[in-house]
Amino acid sequence: MNVFSDTAFDGHEQVVFASDTASGLKTIIAVHNTNLGPSLGGCRMWPYATEQEAIHDALRLSRGMTYKSALANLPLGGGKSVIIGDPRSQKTPELFRAMGRAVEQVGGRYIVAEDVGTSPADMEQIASQTKHVGGISDGKDPARTGDPSPFTAYGVFIGLKEAARFKNGHDDLTGMRVAVQGLGHVGYHLCQMLYDAGAKLVVADLNQASVTKAVDAFGATAVSVENILSVDTDILAPCALGGVINDRTLEKLRVGIIAGAANNQLEHARHGDMLREAGILYAPDYVINAGGVVEVHYCREGKPVSDTNKHIKGIGATVREIFDRASQQNLSTSFVADRLAEERFGLRQHAA
Ligand code: NAD
Repeated sequence: MNVFSDTAFDGHEQVVFASDTASGLKTIIAVHNTNLGPSLGGCRMWPYATEQEAIHDALRLSRGMTYKSALANLPLGGGKSVIIGDPRSQKTPELFRAMGRAVEQVGGRYIVAEDVGTSPADMEQIASQTKHVGGISDGKDPARTGDPSPFTAYGVFIGLKEAARFKNGHDDLTGMRVAVQGLGHVGYHLCQMLYDAGAKLVVADLNQASVTKAVDAFGATAVSVENILSVDTDILAPCALGGVINDRTLEKLRVGIIAGAANNQLEHARHGDMLREAGILYAPDYVINAGGVVEVHYCREGKPVSDTNKHIKGIGATVREIFDRASQQNLSTSFVADRLAEERFGLRQHAA
């Protein structure tokens, strides 16, 4: 089992392995960097095939949070935790209370929130054991349910509009064609905002019921999941899976802008350069999908949702800075985003 030599280790400050025999908890808590503040990141519950796979995922995701929070101008570092187990059959209140005790032992250097396989209800159990937790309804504001997705969608919408402004000289989306891949928690909220802004939607999802709902509510045009990446539209918003921009899909793309919520949209870093060479403006995923982490932070600080939304609006200025630098220096927007994040959290100084 490798930790220090894992390809995603990247100078992690701390990696904690914790277990609880009674509840069956096996967790890895990874704290990548706390230069800007305590690390914050979701707790993913997943039936990892091997322990190495779980370690790798914790390290990779935790590092990503350092970059995301730095570019979101939050006083937070990057961390993440994984619970090895099947969320469909192995979740119990005891398991999450044990997780809460494990988080408590990290002493505030890691703040946990929900992620794939965990929910606001699970965070409530964790909260019975530690105060270092976010992603819970505050019971006061109906807009604050503990679900970060509407805030993530708002940040994506802001980033997408900024991309339209950079490309077209204005951010009026009236009549613009936007293809949305994935109509889940984030994708559906995004469709609502795009529809309200006058965009024409083209949608696809594996779940036919979600497609029908979007067609009925927004007059969206439905296409198959096989064709959504090759439709001729102004903008593509990937809101389903990672790795959708790759050698196979790049030549099919017929869009001017890519701006969506899905994490790790580029299969490899070089695909950022290939998008630039193809004249496609890419709004880096982790920059524009940071709305959820912003909300988790503001909720923990006891600040109103209006403050969250004001902060999320600032994603527009960050995206603009990335686009400007990338165009001045003939670099890909994804490369520039990484260097800007590193400047902010102080890893290294680059010329970009
Ligand atoms: P979700 O699971 O609610 O929705 C994903 C949707 O994509 C589902 O409806 C699923 O059926 C659909 N889908 C899966 N494969 C597909 C395919 N090949 N073609 C078309 N549709 C497909 O997830 P979510 O919370 O909406 O998150 C969407 C993406 O955004 C994920 O990559 C997630 O990591 C990322 N993200 C989410 C948040 C958040 O606040 N929820 C924050 C940051 C990033």
